[in-house]
Amino acid sequence: GGRFSKPSATREKVIFSDVAGQDQAKKEVAELVDFLRDPQRFERVGAKVPHGVLLVGPPGTGKTLLAKALAGEADVPFFSTSGSEFIEIFVGVGAGRVRKMFEAARQAAPSIIFIDELDSIGRTRGTGLGGGHDEREQTLNQILAELDGFAAREAVVVLAATNRPDVLDPALLRPGRFDRHVTLNLPDKAARRAILGIHARDLPLEDPADLDVMAAGTPGFSGADLKNLLNEAAITAARRNGQRISRDDLGEARDKVMMGTVRSLAIRP
Ligand code: ATP
Repeated sequence: GGRFSKPSATREKVIFSDVAGQDQAKKEVAELVDFLRDPQRFERVGAKVPHGVLLVGPPGTGKTLLAKALAGEADVPFFSTSGSEFIEIFVGVGAGRVRKMFEAARQAAPSIIFIDELDSIGRTRGTGLGGGHDEREQTLNQILAELDGFAAREAVVVLAATNRPDVLDPALLRPGRFDRHVTLNLPDKAARRAILGIHARDLPLEDPADLDVMAAGTPGFSGADLKNLLNEAAITAARRNGQRISRDDLGEARDKVMMGTVRSLAIRP
């Protein structure tokens, strides 16, 4: 839809088992499932559950995936936006867009709002790059106002993702706002193997043991890099008209991702 279309929610099918590794992050986010499934249980005894959760971690580590998995597990509507949308699409209407999205989420409660790339809209106020910076501040102020406006019992959880928590306006991190932080890390060897396993589920590999070799040979790769690696290997196999994906296809794809020729296809700041 256009920039003035009504904010709409999706129903996510992703669940926690689709997120490999990140055990600690999954555990922390999982605590919100019960609240979203049955908010009355918490309301009844006066329990205050956090509304704002900041997902912190390098690009491609699964922040968006984890947010969707929470929506999928709790089976609640998922309202999603990105900081960059406010700079590229909702120019001049950012604050109004924020207000409408929170309004729609409240009406649909229990629900989740996900704000990707919070840093692009949530940088410390007064240090913008000029042009449009007042506008950006208005949008940020509206986010703060919406977070403050939640009644304790309102079952809307706001997740925001960033790989630059250091540049965020401190106002965003105050109690009652994004006061709970969940960290996602680059995967270790075991987690890389698990990620490769998930994304190779439907791929015809010559030898599944090749994934062990790949997991060992990809330190520093993110989940998104590993997913790209598999797709690049499939493309390589197709180009040589192969029936299955070979260890050589995987190795070639790994080198490409490592050199950054595939990396550029991933969405990065
Ligand atoms: P960015 O900061 O670049 O937006 P992100 O942390 O939000 O990245 P995602 O967009 O969730 O990362 O990851 C990109 C894709 O990589 C996901 O859709 C998923 O397919 C894959 N991926 C990343 N991490 C994992 C993981 N832990 N398990 C399984 N798949 C993963």
